[in-house]
Amino acid sequence: MKNTRAGFATRAIHDGQAPDPLTGAVTVPIYPTSTYVQQGIGEHKGYEYSRASNPTRTRLEENLASLEGGVAARVFASGMAAINAVAALLKSGDHVVCGNDLYGGTPRLFNQVLSNFGLEFSYVDTTDAENVGRAIRKNTRRVYVETPTNPLMRLSDLKAISQICRRKQIELVVDNTFMSPYFQQPLALGADMVIHSTTKFLNGHSDGLGGVVVCTKPEQAEKLAFLQKAAGAILSPFECWLVLRGVKTLAARMEIHDRNGRAVADFLAKHQKVSKVFYPGLRDHPQHELARRQMSGFGAMITFETGSFKNANKMLKKLRVCSLGESLGGVETLISHPATMTHAALGEKGRKAIGITDGMVRISVGIENIEDILHDLEQGLAAI
Ligand code: PLP
Repeated sequence: MKNTRAGFATRAIHDGQAPDPLTGAVTVPIYPTSTYVQQGIGEHKGYEYSRASNPTRTRLEENLASLEGGVAARVFASGMAAINAVAALLKSGDHVVCGNDLYGGTPRLFNQVLSNFGLEFSYVDTTDAENVGRAIRKNTRRVYVETPTNPLMRLSDLKAISQICRRKQIELVVDNTFMSPYFQQPLALGADMVIHSTTKFLNGHSDGLGGVVVCTKPEQAEKLAFLQKAAGAILSPFECWLVLRGVKTLAARMEIHDRNGRAVADFLAKHQKVSKVFYPGLRDHPQHELARRQMSGFGAMITFETGSFKNANKMLKKLRVCSLGESLGGVETLISHPATMTHAALGEKGRKAIGITDGMVRISVGIENIEDILHDLEQGLAAI
């Protein structure tokens, strides 16, 4: 079913997820096949080889395109594979203006891999849209932002940036992983493509890696489909199915993530062992008004300052409900230490330049009972 006029939760459950016509199974079948029998030369049912396309993958792509309001979507083996595929649409000599507070793996790919192939990247503070305009050069083809950023929860005004991009005839690509399409719809605000690590909220159960690019133009989707086939970083049928399964509860999960996120942020903001909390839902967040305008919820991602590496480690070792680990967006509360995990690749100087300290801890608030999460954080912070 493609029922784009239905509400978000309905589309998450039904778009691309119609019952199997052969058996009536309510869940999309997993097609674990590498190839497809052809009736004659060039006579087939639309599928020839699973690197090029697979029915389970097609269904997931339909579903995610609907949720982000795009014309099509293409899924890849991980969020990084999706980011790499979008970069591969550029040519040697092209320049990209990037936010300066991205997931650490993204500048690692840009600076240590793709710059060897002649792509140029510069990094600016995109919290001020004018900085984007000033960084645009003759060879700039694209602006690349994450909002809110990881881990500092800084926002970029997507409408303002997209207007600048439109004037300069360059494209805007947004990594929407932190908010999910449930709380933020960058395409409606003028973005040309949206990327997600489906590993996070879209899957939601911490049991599979994946990435998606949602497109506004059929040509983008065609080129990305060519890259799936030509470069091969595709998502397996089983992992497509895990996202199809996970996304059915996205709306319900995001509501609880958001409610718990607000409660944890309020708790941390009042806690005497915590000197600073980064969460767009707090009234004293410098871009709280933009957050209210641009997003329909504040989400589950919070970063806070414990004062030192030693304090952070003392607290993290005491936690029992919240687990110390990389990643985010799962039903379980996950806590990470950006300086040694997600942003280790930036180096001490790179982290200092954007304000990531050794005492910072990032929490992806899960959907457990809120009393248990708060009690766990309380006993963890008591160790400092
Ligand atoms: N984008 C963001 C905002 C992320 O947080 C991550 C991973 O943490 C990625 C992209 C990369 O995704 P993956 O780990 O699925 O490759």
